[in-house]
Order: sequence, then structure tokens, then C-alpha cells
Amino acid sequence: MSDMSSPPVTPQAFSADILRHLKQSLGKDASHAALYDWRMALSLALRDRVVDPWFESTRKTYEARGKRVYYLSMEFLIGRLIEDVAVNLGLDAVAQEALESLGQDYAKVVADEPDAALGNGGLGRLAACFMDSLSTLGIPAYGYGIRYEHGLFEQHFKDGAQMETAETWLAQRHAWEFERPEVSYPIHFGGVLREVDGAQVWEPGETVMASAYDTPVVGWQGRWANTLRLWAAQPTMAFDLSSFNRGDYMGASAPEALARTISRVLYPDDTTEDGKELRLKQEYFFTSASIQDLLRRFLSEGGDLAALADHVAIQLNDTHPAIAGPELVRLLIDAHGMEVALAISTARACLAYTNHTLLPEALERWPEDLFIRVLPRHHRIIALIEAAHLAETGSHVRIIEHGEVKMGELAFVMAHRVNGVSALHSDLVKETVFADLNRDYPGRIINQTNGITPRRWLYSCNPALRDLINETIGTAWPDDLQQLEGLSTHASDAAFLERFQAAKDTNKARLANWLKARDGVVLDPAAMFDVQIKRIHEYKRQLMNLLETIALWNDIRDTPNGNWTPRVKIFGGKAAPGYVVAKEIIHLINDAAALINADPVTKDLLQIVYPENYNVSMAEILIPAADLSEQISTAGKEASGTGNMKFALNGAPTIGTLDGANVEIRDCVGAENFFLFGLTAAEVVARRAEPSYARRAVEASPRLARVLKQIESGVFSPSEKARYAGLVQGLVDHDYFLVTCDFDSYFETQREVDTAFADQSAWTRMAALNTARVGWFSSDRTIAGYARDIWNAPSLIGPRRSQKDVA
Ligand SMILES: *Cc1c(COP(=O)(O)O)cnc(C)c1O
Repeated sequence: MSDMSSPPVTPQAFSADILRHLKQSLGKDASHAALYDWRMALSLALRDRVVDPWFESTRKTYEARGKRVYYLSMEFLIGRLIEDVAVNLGLDAVAQEALESLGQDYAKVVADEPDAALGNGGLGRLAACFMDSLSTLGIPAYGYGIRYEHGLFEQHFKDGAQMETAETWLAQRHAWEFERPEVSYPIHFGGVLREVDGAQVWEPGETVMASAYDTPVVGWQGRWANTLRLWAAQPTMAFDLSSFNRGDYMGASAPEALARTISRVLYPDDTTEDGKELRLKQEYFFTSASIQDLLRRFLSEGGDLAALADHVAIQLNDTHPAIAGPELVRLLIDAHGMEVALAISTARACLAYTNHTLLPEALERWPEDLFIRVLPRHHRIIALIEAAHLAETGSHVRIIEHGEVKMGELAFVMAHRVNGVSALHSDLVKETVFADLNRDYPGRIINQTNGITPRRWLYSCNPALRDLINETIGTAWPDDLQQLEGLSTHASDAAFLERFQAAKDTNKARLANWLKARDGVVLDPAAMFDVQIKRIHEYKRQLMNLLETIALWNDIRDTPNGNWTPRVKIFGGKAAPGYVVAKEIIHLINDAAALINADPVTKDLLQIVYPENYNVSMAEILIPAADLSEQISTAGKEASGTGNMKFALNGAPTIGTLDGANVEIRDCVGAENFFLFGLTAAEVVARRAEPSYARRAVEASPRLARVLKQIESGVFSPSEKARYAGLVQGLVDHDYFLVTCDFDSYFETQREVDTAFADQSAWTRMAALNTARVGWFSSDRTIAGYARDIWNAPSLIGPRRSQKDVA
């Protein structure tokens, strides 16, 4: 939109902006400015340029009186923002030149920004990609979440074991946010219900304030900007002066400390819920603030609440904000006098729910007594919702059952659409977790396969490949990613492939330099970089990757003069602090690395690297440098995955199972450009029914048996020989995730990878075809699908370029 974009900025003008902020906002002059000052000045100069498109977008949204999308998510895994904003504004080159003209190292300043790590993994990163795409598509939207004081913990290794320390991203001022002290809402907990004139009146026992902090999120080419609104908890009374005057200094600060606890830390558990009262309070805290906020906005425009769903679409990212249903119903009934049935149908027309897990134990459930204690009025409202649902459908599925409040069922019943996040996952949602509700509400479950933003995950993290693509097919691809298909015809052109490989080599050298400087680790850039980075979880099977690595080590030692393809096995990822088995796996990877990396026989052929503290910024360095992408979860367990998409887009073929979006990636890139192995989801279920399947698999595989014996007998833990006896015993005894059953297939497929990699030009061709054929996995396509199938929300920036094959 030409009327919204600012006039072109010269590097001279931009360096003047930076100097002005250095002086006026930071109170420093250039000769005394520290790295922090430069980083803040650069960020503020960029932020200035977001404000106009942001205001303009808000104005257009009010004018259009159309629909706003509200994306409620407990997590936003954002990462750094300087490059993201610069790239979206088209100011990346200008910012770099400006800063360097002031004698500063741009890369160093960019790297000084702490990651905003308000999420655990894929779910939070998805929310961040969606925010980028909502702005790029010009759909009026708010992201709503929690402004945690401490994001995801920092991971350190001590003698190979994971240690956690608190993350402190807010220790320095956060450059991108605007504090909104005037936007705050009371959030109530506990207390009692009283009957007044036949109506239920909630007299809460405790109240905190939710206070807004806004970060503008600007889309591609600065055409539109939405708001990420994060809530911080504050006390209703900051300080108890009477306690202080009595000499009770601790007591005087108690209200503040108590309230602040609610937005203090991100729960580091990324799958199962631990049923903590604080967690329930966090969920209600941000959900209630968000619902109050969107209702206030709607009413301030003179809206009639019966027409709420024409103006409001609320998307629940997993069940964490599922209390949105009863909260909206409560406010419609208690605060606005709406009749119950209309309140429920109105809320349902606004709400939609994205399911992210099939593990029944990971669907949130709250003990009913806890729920009544924290949210007594909502407990009654849920009973009304349940009664309406049972009457409407004749269903036998309850929401409150066996002393528990089931948030999955609540979210489902209160949503007009429920979506899974890959084709396979959505089918399994219909067949397994919500089979009964799917019969009660046919057609409610749909699919929206996840995506990733190509601005962060190609354009800015991989400048070498980006430049080659620009030169080859032009520059219109970043918001129309299917255009990458135009690279296919070049995949048989030797000169193009040579340049594609040169870009990969540049990224591998960049990674090698980074690791050398950071950890003192030296990599051989000619070796295959084989990368598995993601949360550590048994279903993701990092252990199987390590077992294969050890088996390979054995084979090389048996035949040191064989024709081996040199590999660097790169691992990255954190384990939830309370997840004992995941932490054992981390320890074992590090123990194995210590022994194997020191082996003179194999050291030029096999290396294990595990840089600590995997996060978004590390992903941005590792993924462009990867030759091989490890997506090896037990089939049926990974809902979609998005790491898999990032690797393929950056020219790393996958070794993987038929799980999550791997299935669709393989369909797109072609079976010949994907290394498939392992049992299918149906075969996994069948295998688990066979007696002693793990023991039999080990007995049938001498190679695996040997590796397990080495680990069990303490080869990798000489100072504590029994360290991994339990881990190995667990595999042989239950092996719920079928590591033993898929091991041979995985090992053999890895040897096919070896052979394929040795033919350099054929490999590069395969890599280039991966990049060319995964344009469909742009989160722009995903968001266009949600907008069309769930929200009925139009773009306000006019006709888009044709998006072929949208969903
Ligand atoms: C993309 C991403 C994830 C999700 O990875 P999966 O392989 O899909 O589990 C997790 N963490 C970070 C930092 C990411 O960038």
C-alpha cells in the first residue's frame, strides 16, 4: 500500500535517527556508548518506522468495522526482533550500512539482543510465525499472551548433565514494547457464590490486575502491522503502608509479590500438565484479561453483543486458554444480562480451538475441587454448557467427569471449529481423542497444516540462499512462497547447483566459526552436518539417533579403512526440568560425545556436537547449515512439526518417519528426495499389541544388542558404570516409542544417506528440489486457510497476489 509506506530512508538519515536515540533516549554520546546502547538506539530507530503503518492499520480496521482475529496463546516463542523488523521494513541493508558508518559491527549489535523466549518449542514458535503472517496478509489481529518475567530457562551442561538457570530477558529494557498503564483489568479468583434474587453472584476472594504491554508486529514490506498484547500481573494495592508502619516490612510487600507470581515464570513443561494451581491461575489470568479487552473494544464501537461473532474471531492455541468459553459466557450473562442459551451460542460462534496433541494424558484436566476453589462461578457455567451440549446432541461425552474438569472436551464443545495441524494428525484427532465428539458434531473437525514464516526462516536467516533465489527467480517470493517452484527447472543446471552448494558451504562455514568462537569446538565443513534440534522427548527419539551413532562408531572401528562418509552429528534441545528420562538421554549424548570425539581411529569420520541452550537464534544458524534433517518421531506422535519445514526450505533433505507434516513434505518434495524409514502409525499400534516386541527386536539385531550392552555396561560412563542401566532396561522392557523396532530400518536408511551424500551433485540437486517444492509450508498459506475456513476474516490490504493451491 503505497499510501502507508514511509518514504525511502537513506543510510545517512537512518544513522542520524540512531544518533538521536543514542542521545535523547539513552542519554549517551557515541564515544561512550556501550554495545547495549547501540543496540537500543538501533532498535528504537527501527521501531519508530513501525509506528506509522501500525496507526494506519488501526485506523483502517476501525473504518472497516469488520472482523478482528484474537489469537490466544500461552506461549509466543519470538526470538530476536531487530533483523525481523528491519527485513520486513525493507531496511536491513540501510540499517547495516548506517550502523557501520558509525563504526559499529552490525552482526555484533544484532547478536546482543536477548531472545524473547516466552515459549517452550513448536507451539510457541507457531504462534510467533502466525503473528508475522497475519500482518503480512493484512488481517486485523491481536495476539494475546503473558509477559513472563522469566522466559524459558537457560540450559547449561555440567559434566554432561543438564542444569537450568533462570532466564532474564527483561533485565535490560525491552526495546520493542509500549507499556499501557491505562489498559488494565481486574482478574478475580476464589471466594464464594451467593444467591441474590435467584441469580448467582460471585464474591471473589482475591483480585490481581492485568496490565497491557503492546508490541507492534509489522508484516512484509511494512504494509500492515498488528499488535501483540502481553499481560503482566500487578497487585490492586502495590504496597501495604499500614503493615510497613507497624514495622512489618516483608508483609508490606506481600501483595505485590503474590500478584507478580502469576506472570513470573513460563512453565517449562512442554507436553504433560502438572496440575499446578498457579498454572490454572495463569491461564485464567491472561484469558480473562483478553476477553475483557476485546469486549471493551467491541462495545466502544457501539456493537450489539448478539452480533459479536460478526466482529470477533477467537482462536485458542491448544487448551491453555479453553477457559475463554465459560469466561465469555459468564461476562455475557453476569455483566450484560444475556440469556444463557444465546450467550452459549454467541460464544461458540466466536471461538475456535486448535488441537496440538493426541496423547490423552497431555490433554489438560483439573481436579474439580481445585477448579471450584479457584473459579467457582466458571464451574457453574461449565455445568450449564455441559447441560446444553448433552441436550443438543444426546451425547454421552461429559465435560466434568470423575471429579475432573476436562479442558479438551470443554474447548471442543465451545468451538464452532476444531482443527488439527497436519493431515495425518487431523485424521487421528477424528479417530482417537475426539472420536465421540466427532460423531456428535460431524464436520466440526478440520485440518490446517502448520507453516513457518519464510521471512525469518529463509530470507533473514539464510542470506546466501536468499540472494541466489533473488537472482534466479526474482524477489516476489517472500510473501508468495509457491514461487520457489520456479527453482525446479534450474535443478538440472550444473552452474545453479554449484551456486546452491556454495550457499550451503557458506552457511556451514558460518556455523563452524560460530561454534569455534562460542564453545571452542572445531568442525570439519566437508563432513555431512546431520542435525536433530528440538525439545528432548522420548517420542522424538533422540535416543534412537544416538544409538545409531554408536553403532556407526562400532562399524567404523571394525573396518577403519572402509568407504565411510564423514559425519558431524549435531544435537540441540532442552528437557523439561522434571523429565528424568529426557535428562538421562541428554547426559548419555554428552557422555558418548566425550568418548567418541576423542577416539583417534574415528575422529576424522564421526563427531558428536551438542551446543547448550538451543533457542530460536541458534536454530537460525544451525538450520541453514544442515545437510540432513532428522525427523524421526514414532509415527502418530508428532502432531505436525515445524522444524521439519524449516530444514526442507533451507535445502536439507529429511530422514524421517511417516509422522505429522513429514507425510505432506514428502508428498511435495517427492519420495525420491526424502529418506523414509520406520513403522507407520497403524503399524505402531499393531506392534504394541505384540508380546515382548522390544526384547524380540533387540534379539533380532546384533548391531543394536551390542550398542545396548556397551551403554548398559558403562562404556560411556566409566566413572559410574551403572549410570544408564535403567535407561537401557526401560528400552528392553517397555520401549513405548518403538526405538528398538525402528532401529534397523533407521540404520540402513542412514547408510543410504551416506551413499547419496557421496554423490555431491546428485545430493545438491535433491537439496535444491527440497527448497523449490516446499513453498506450500509458508505460514501465509496456513493463515489464509484459517481466515477462510474458520474466521471468515478478510484481508484489508486489497487483492493479494494469486496464491496457488491455498490449502
Ligand atoms: C521450530 C522450533 C521448534 C519446533 O521444532 P520441532 O522440530 O517441530 O519440534 C522448537 N524450538 C525452536 C527454537 C524452534 O525454532
